[in-house]
Amino acid sequence: TIPKHNLNFSPFPPLTPQNVAVIGAGAAGLVAARELRREGHKVVVFEREIKVGGTWVYNPSTESYPLGLDPTRVVIHSSLYASLRTNLPREVMGFRDYPFVVQRDPRRFSGHVEVLEYLNNFETEFGLGELVRLGAEVRRVWLEGGKWKIRSRMSVRGDLDEVYDAVVVCNGHYTEPRIAEIPGIETWPGLQIHSHNYRIPEPFQGQVVILIGSSASAVDICRDIAGVAKEVHVASRSVTYGPIGKLPGHDNMWLHSMIESAHGDGIVVFRDGSAVCADVILHCTGYKYTFPFLDTNGAVTVDDNPPSLSFVGLPWKVVPFPLCELQSKWIADVSSGRVSLPSSNEMMADVEAFYRNFNTSGIPKHYTHNLGDSLFEYNDWLASECECPPSDEWGKEMYSAASKNRKVRPETYRDKWDDEDLAAQAREDFECFSK
Ligand code: FAD
Repeated sequence: TIPKHNLNFSPFPPLTPQNVAVIGAGAAGLVAARELRREGHKVVVFEREIKVGGTWVYNPSTESYPLGLDPTRVVIHSSLYASLRTNLPREVMGFRDYPFVVQRDPRRFSGHVEVLEYLNNFETEFGLGELVRLGAEVRRVWLEGGKWKIRSRMSVRGDLDEVYDAVVVCNGHYTEPRIAEIPGIETWPGLQIHSHNYRIPEPFQGQVVILIGSSASAVDICRDIAGVAKEVHVASRSVTYGPIGKLPGHDNMWLHSMIESAHGDGIVVFRDGSAVCADVILHCTGYKYTFPFLDTNGAVTVDDNPPSLSFVGLPWKVVPFPLCELQSKWIADVSSGRVSLPSSNEMMADVEAFYRNFNTSGIPKHYTHNLGDSLFEYNDWLASECECPPSDEWGKEMYSAASKNRKVRPETYRDKWDDEDLAAQAREDFECFSK
């Protein structure tokens, strides 16, 4: 297939073209490759799987250790479950100049297959395939003589060491499970699983399941399982939907506070004083950042040269695709010298002020990348640095309407909404991209 857009032609000749290695070919890696090429850099994308798409490549298999804690296990990258539909409306979810319009699945909150198809079309349309090395796992990244060395492994070829000017890390952060600490769990006889290894509800037929968490996946998975399980008990640190007790609309699902302790006779006690004898504890408790290949001798230093190690897609509570697109544009521009960084003193002062504010407000450090309410401010700052238009007003309003709707109507938010006017406005705006 001939790509519609020729990335070998850059409208602005780069000031300083770089040889850039991108690690990962999910949404972040693909858009990073596009932006770097657009700016005239030379790009190689390393992808350890045999397909592009990252999280959106559904894998029905699960890992051999259901909690996913054994460092020697064979890692399965994607955490998607079979029934997953997006938790964002498609109009806000897509890249800014390549809208996520209907491919096959006409729903506004589509199934996961539709998202993968969109990413595959994006790859084809911009001719990114020729930049991607599939089945190439980055094993080690280190600095040597002011350049980056990358050691990659392809099963057919073995290890290969190469030299790059810059590295853009796009390895995703929904693969390495974080689990809840439960006093007494060592003696508890049931099965523990992390949502990373949840695919379908059938294995939970007739069981008593405790699900820990209140994220988007927790809200979906507890309902998925309630269709077949005997009982589902949701333990939540932040009860965001309904009072503690039976969940409305379900005769076999209860909401509890967090778990207090687990016991050798199978009993699990909650902080609200209730207790159940459970077969399974399912941790929907999120993920850890991990960069096992990075070896920077404990320090990432930036001297006079353009900064050369960047990370795309780290923030959470965001709309990932457009955020990754803007971060990538900015990285491409900074790498070529089109955009300058503040001085390192200014940046350090900013970091210190940021954490002082965390300290005084009692916010834990692991919330560093939680953008939440600052999402659009952050995106618009990146956009202005790169001389791009700011976020559309309809997009901001739609994001906030969808977030509210998700909280108020967790059962039906994907099929009932009140922002049809915004969706119509979005579709009108998208017409300029179909020409
Ligand atoms: P990933 O998609 O994880 O891609 C990372 C890539 O890096 C992978 O292909 C991996 O194989 C590769 N890689 C990792 N390590 C190496 C290595 N050492 N060498 C080479 N390659 C490597 N976002 C939305 O916008 N809407 C949603 O509705 C939504 N729902 C979600 C539901 C779930 C259950 C999860 C887990 C996430 C969801 N997200 C959603 C967020 C989603 O993660 C982002 O949309 C997006 O896929 C992130 O892209 P990424 O490229 O940063 O990471």
